[in-house]
Parts: sequence; C-alpha cells; structure tokens
Amino acid sequence: MKRSAGSGRTITKGDAGFDAALLGTSFNAQDPGRRPALIVQANNDADVLSAVRQARDLGLKIGICSGGHSWAQNHIRDGGMLIDLSRLNSISINAAEGIATIGPGCLAGELNAALAKQHLFFPVAHAYTVGMGGFLLQGGFGWNSRASGLACQSVIGIDVVLADGTLVHASETENPELLWAARGSGPGFFGVVVRFYLKLHARPKFVGLKIQVFRIQHLEAVMAWADRVGPSVPAFVEFQLVFDRRAMGIFSHGIQVLAPVMANSWREAKAAVDFIDKSPIRNLASFTLPLLPVSLEMMMKGGESTLFLPNTRWTADSMWMNTPIDPLLPALRRIADTQPAAPSHALWLNWNGPATRPDMAFSLEGRTYLALYGGLRGSTTNTADESWATDHMKAMQAHSIGIQLADENLGRRPAHFMAPANLARLDALRTRFDPDGLFNPYMGRIA
Ligand SMILES: Cc1cc2nc3c(=O)[nH]c(=O)nc-3n(C[C@H](O)[C@H](O)[C@H](O)COP(=O)(O)OP(=O)(O)OC[C@H]3O[C@@H](n4cnc5c(N)ncnc54)[C@H](O)[C@@H]3O)c2cc1C
Repeated sequence: MKRSAGSGRTITKGDAGFDAALLGTSFNAQDPGRRPALIVQANNDADVLSAVRQARDLGLKIGICSGGHSWAQNHIRDGGMLIDLSRLNSISINAAEGIATIGPGCLAGELNAALAKQHLFFPVAHAYTVGMGGFLLQGGFGWNSRASGLACQSVIGIDVVLADGTLVHASETENPELLWAARGSGPGFFGVVVRFYLKLHARPKFVGLKIQVFRIQHLEAVMAWADRVGPSVPAFVEFQLVFDRRAMGIFSHGIQVLAPVMANSWREAKAAVDFIDKSPIRNLASFTLPLLPVSLEMMMKGGESTLFLPNTRWTADSMWMNTPIDPLLPALRRIADTQPAAPSHALWLNWNGPATRPDMAFSLEGRTYLALYGGLRGSTTNTADESWATDHMKAMQAHSIGIQLADENLGRRPAHFMAPANLARLDALRTRFDPDGLFNPYMGRIA
C-alpha cells in the first residue's frame, strides 16, 4: 500500500481519483474488479464514528483496511463503504510500563524502528510495510513468534467502534469478549479497531541469520531432513525453506534454508543453528554461510525487496499440516516443477508450536506450515501461473488441517481457519455485537 498522503476525505464511486484511491490501499497490485460505493479516509476516531453511523443509516456494509496487505484484498468488496485507516498510524511507547499504544495504520517496520531505539521488542510481521491492524487481528506470526508468542497474545487492549456507533475499550477486564474475538478473527472481526495496546518484550541481544542454499534437484532430501529435525529446533530459531527460481547465490531454481535467530548471545545463537552446519545433507548444499549478525530492519527490508515485491499481482494460499513428509514429497515436487518465475515462491515453515495457548479466537495451528505466493509482474497473463497457489492447495487438501488467516484465500478456496467451538463462539459474538451484519463477513467459509 502506498502510504496515504494528506488529509483524508470521502470519495464516491465515479469521482475523479476513486480507482486510484481504492487500488492504492492494496499491497497486491491485482485489480479485483470489485468496487465499493464510497471510501472514507479517516483522520481520527471522530471520522470513524461518523462513518460507521453513516453506513448504518444508509444500509451500507463496511469493509476496513489498515495497511492493505490482505493478499485476497478482503477490504475491497462490491458496494458498501470502505473505511481506510492508514492515516491512524500513531505510535506511543511507555517504556517504563512496557506498553505501546498504536494506531492500526502503523506499519510493522515503523513500530520495530521505534522500539529498537528503546531496546524493546514486539513480534511484528516479517515485512516492513505490513499494517499492524490486520496483522494483529489475524493472529500475527511475527519475528520470534515461536518463542515470544503470536502477536495477538501481546494485545492487552483495543479501542473499537462497534456497529451501534459507539466507541468502547476492551481488555481482559472490560468487554473481555471483544478482546477474545480481536485475538485471531482477522478479516471476520465485527468492529473498527482504532487503537491497539501492546505488551512489549525485551529486545533480544543478538539477532542474526543463517543461510544455506540447495539446488532444486535435492528437494526430497532437503525436505526429509527439515521435517526430521524440525521438532528439535529451538523456539528462538525460525527454520524455513523457500523454493525460489532465482535462489540467492545460484541465481537458478533452488531451496533457500533461511534461519533467523534471536538469542541472548552470539554463542547461544551459533549453537542453535549448528544443526544446519552439521546436517547429514550439508555436502549437497551449493553453499552455507556462517551465522551473520543482521538487524531486524535489514531482514524486513531485504525480504520485501527480494521475495515480496510490490507492484506484483499476488495470489497466496496456505495450509497447516500434521502429516509426516513422505506422502507430501510428490506434491512438493509438482509445486516446484510448476513454480512460476520469481518473485513467486513456496514457503515451508517448521512450526511445532506450544502445547497450549490462552483462550482466544485464534485456535488452529499445526506441526508445519506450507504457503504458496504466486506473484506475477507486468501485464502478461498466464492462467496456470495465476492459479498456481490455489490449485496446488486444492490438490493437497487431504493433508490440510486448515489455513492461516495471514495468507487466506477464502474467496477462492473456503477452508477451516479456527477450531469449531471458537468459530461458533465468534459467530455468537457477531450476532450480539453486529446483529444487522454491518461489517463484511469472511469472503468464504466452510459451514
Ligand atoms: C508482504 C507481506 C508480508 C507478510 N508477512 C506476514 C508475517 O510475517 N506474519 C503474518 O502473520 N502475516 C504476514 N502477512 C499477512 C498480513 O499479516 C495480513 O495480510 C494482514 O491482514 C495485513 O494487515 P494489514 O493491516 O496490512 O491488512 P489489511 O488488508 O488492511 O487488513 C486485512 C483485513 O483485516 C481487517 N482489518 C484490518 N484492520 C482492521 C481494523 N483496524 N479494524 C477491524 N478490522 C480490520 C479487515 O477485514 C481487512 O480486510 C504478510 C502479508 C504481506 C503482503
């Protein structure tokens, strides 16, 4: 999303600049073809309150965007009102109490930079320009989230405008059911969050990156090794494999082992990534770099300038799996064989999360995570490339236990994203707080 400049205004479909304002809200350069009736670019709480009241009076459904990084462009619907919150991007840090208060339009990189100055940390999204609003609501698989928890677990309060046109605060003790829903309902939340209160963490003393690269011919050996060692990888190591047709260093089709580490010392970090240096398949690698000290900011910007290019038409899809790797290997090989040109990529993530989490809407995760990001550039169209992510996830459906809302594709491929009991509770809360269905529901779901 292009950070909105100047004072926000209301733009009606048909006005000059309507399409530019609408499509400018989206990181994904795809034009979904959908058009709301009007866009309200909010400057403050009062604008949000009057927009919600106006939508209610006019019978318009509401879509919301903060940073506009929904791959599915969930905020852009046909008809209704789009409330653009990108200007609500304030950051206020109370270091003594370890709390940050942020607007939903604040970007991951901006919050990280502000916290770094005070040696504080929050598990923000991996790419600099992701909006904190949508990221926090869907769960938030941020930096070091296997160790620090999902980002939504560190949301201790919200200020939210509800369908009845009131602004309320929610915390563990005040309107706790709204906080419960805000921790994981993502694009199905039924209110406009205008502020988040975040519990901050101590900043890790050492941040670094371990890299190893293999040619794609070694896919089966690499995946089998990764799956085997995954459960024993320390929680403060993000162990991920990326299939890329322009893999770093070899500039051809390969698998990048990318392992960011956040530790108390270089020594601790080095010991934690030793399993890569000492792996039984290390001799198959084209190269292995030593553990490099790299700032989070560099990794955030680096990832975005290589894997997550803007001005790209993206389709993403995902699945959580508990299946062991062997039956998946033929499907992974087909994914690699049909993989479109970079920046399209496949991500396999070792998750192996904790046995329990606090009670919240977020309630579905698995042993490993697979996400496909199909990214097309220029104006050329290729149907197979455009549906690469969706088609392969459909084909692997039997292995899926559900998806992450971070990489949802519910409009094209409805899937489970929450435990059934949590979804039923969320539906009941929606009926209570938004009885007339003012806020857009998920783009697709399984009953
Ligand atoms: C390049 C890139 C990198 C990413 N990296 C990560 C990552 O590391 N970890 C991760 O977990 N996810 C990641 N994501 C996914 C991302 O977190 C989600 O798409 C998230 O929704 C983005 O938040 P946003 O505010 O930018 O998006 P938006 O598109 O603005 O929001 C998505 C949806 O959330 C709802 N919403 C947003 N703000 C509000 C609000 N204030 N009140 C009520 N509802 C609201 C709306 O329904 C909206 O349609 C990434 C996405 C991209 C494009």
